Amino acid sequence: MKNSHLIRPLVRELHPYIHGEQPKIKGLIKLNTNENPYPPSPRVLAAVKAAGDGRLRLYPSPTAQALREKLAKLHRCHADNIIVGNGSDELLALATRCFVEPFLGRDTRPRVSADAPAGRPYQIIQYFTPSYSLYPVLADIHGATKNPMALKPDFSLPGVAELRGGGWRFDAALTYVTTPNAPGGRGYSTRELDALCRAQRGVVVLDEAYVDFAEENAMKLALKYPHVLVARTFSKAYSLCFQRVGYFVGHPDLIAALHKIRDSYNVNGLGQVAAVATLGDLPYYRANFKKIIATREWLSRELTKLGFRIFPSQANFILAQPSRFTAHEWQQKLRQRKVLVRWFNFPEAKKYLRITIGSPAGEIALVKAARKILLG
Ligand code: PMP
Repeated sequence: MKNSHLIRPLVRELHPYIHGEQPKIKGLIKLNTNENPYPPSPRVLAAVKAAGDGRLRLYPSPTAQALREKLAKLHRCHADNIIVGNGSDELLALATRCFVEPFLGRDTRPRVSADAPAGRPYQIIQYFTPSYSLYPVLADIHGATKNPMALKPDFSLPGVAELRGGGWRFDAALTYVTTPNAPGGRGYSTRELDALCRAQRGVVVLDEAYVDFAEENAMKLALKYPHVLVARTFSKAYSLCFQRVGYFVGHPDLIAALHKIRDSYNVNGLGQVAAVATLGDLPYYRANFKKIIATREWLSRELTKLGFRIFPSQANFILAQPSRFTAHEWQQKLRQRKVLVRWFNFPEAKKYLRITIGSPAGEIALVKAARKILLG
């Protein structure tokens, strides 16, 4: 029986986010989804095990109170500057529902919020390309108008003056900036991000998913401006993808608005326990960041020797442009040799491979496989 009419047209026509492959193949070296090669700290594993008792019958803290208090200490702010989500992905989605008006009617004239001093068209979501490919999907799910803007060829940010002439909307309701950039890996200075934030009239989300591998972070902008949110995650640097914990830091008014629309118990209890324990053992993770950065620099040198163009990275991955074979061919050839890397089928990212920084042994295997492929 035909039942597609039951589904909203917007959802019927939606192209969903394409996540990295999660195959369970024995012996596979998985360098495609930026997972951390090092396990969570022993203290985190012990805390999660200890929490797996009769408490599982109880609801967790609806606001992740203990975790928010610990995060507030870490970032020298207050718990009401923080909201925790089921991964930062959940919060990126909540931001669309909180700050952007869906635009589903037939009237294509931009609607302007009456109470905004400069007449902010409140259905525009904008972001740079290439960056996190979830942003346009979130805009589509919400029925918002997208305003993508190309980064420079070296993935640097266009300056405010260049943006002004290039179709960028300083009045967009929501702007996402991935910093450091993904998949390019390029880091941005707090100074240039500050200038961008100052020029925007709507909400700016600085998505710092990879910032622990970078030279600078822009947390202070979230505590300085009333319209800037910084997104962080425990997934990458803190080896906790499995538990799904991320957070936003920002002005209490924006944070309170986000709290209003989240699910009552949006962060699972074991995730909260794991994240709190993580914050109790930061030196363990900082030592891992150093190892990952050293492996990143080693891999960049080795792949450069093999003829790849490598973009300087401040993240836990590198972007590599092959000189022989297409990037897609490389992805398939490496897969045949049980090394999985990421290839994006988007016009702006098609010619690159994104390679996660895994263990030294994993990266040595990748370089060996690449050498064999080149020898044919
Ligand atoms: N932002 C960026 C730029 C990412 O690459 C990712 C992971 N795919 C996320 C946010 C979301 O991470 P999580 O939901 O695991 O916190």
